[in-house]
Amino acid sequence: MSEVPPAAARADELAILGAQVNQCTVCRLAETRTNVVFGSGNPDADVIFVGEGPGQQEDEQGLPFVGRSGQLLEELLGEIGLTRADVYIANVVKCRPPKNRDPRPDEIDACKGYLRTQLELIQPKVAVTLGNFASKLLLRTDTGITRLRGNSYEWWGRLLVPTYHPAAALRGSARVLNEMREDFQTIQAVIEGKLTRRPPEPSAAPVEPEPDPDPEQLDLFN
Ligand code: SF4
Repeated sequence: MSEVPPAAARADELAILGAQVNQCTVCRLAETRTNVVFGSGNPDADVIFVGEGPGQQEDEQGLPFVGRSGQLLEELLGEIGLTRADVYIANVVKCRPPKNRDPRPDEIDACKGYLRTQLELIQPKVAVTLGNFASKLLLRTDTGITRLRGNSYEWWGRLLVPTYHPAAALRGSARVLNEMREDFQTIQAVIEGKLTRRPPEPSAAPVEPEPDPDPEQLDLFN
């Protein structure tokens, strides 16, 4: 097994990658973005949050998860004793898709190497997907977030915990917020070493996959 470089060296490499990505024009999203949203936070974090792509405010500020969604994320982090500075936050695609449409398969394909390198450099214990799109894409499944969440999955040598996008909780459902709180407890358990692999599900009912409008995307992360 190859040795992991020291945190300082990995942080330097991440900063170099960020500077490169800020100039990226590989896919069409470069034409309409205001800023590249590479990601931000602790380059040696135990947890990386992964969303779908930047929204309007993120595009304007060049930072992931700002505005009300970002505030809720920070609130939930606070409940498990973390701040935004403790974690790393990134997206599947680094530039905003126009009118907040879903990223297209060729855009994901063009951008996914950046996320992969971020993961290799940060070496988090747990990856947390925020929302339906990122969760289905990274887990390569057509099962929706409502059924995926509440569990952890082995993924690229670490655990992945899928949860809702904070915007879903902000839309007013107390159930969604409570379930996000449960998921953050799972994140805390992974960070503290109390949960190291997916719990067995011998009695779980078979899950019927939900239809996916874009099944082509499912094979892009492997
Ligand atoms: S979305 Fe990714 S691949 Fe496309 S231009 Fe932005 S950084 Fe480059």
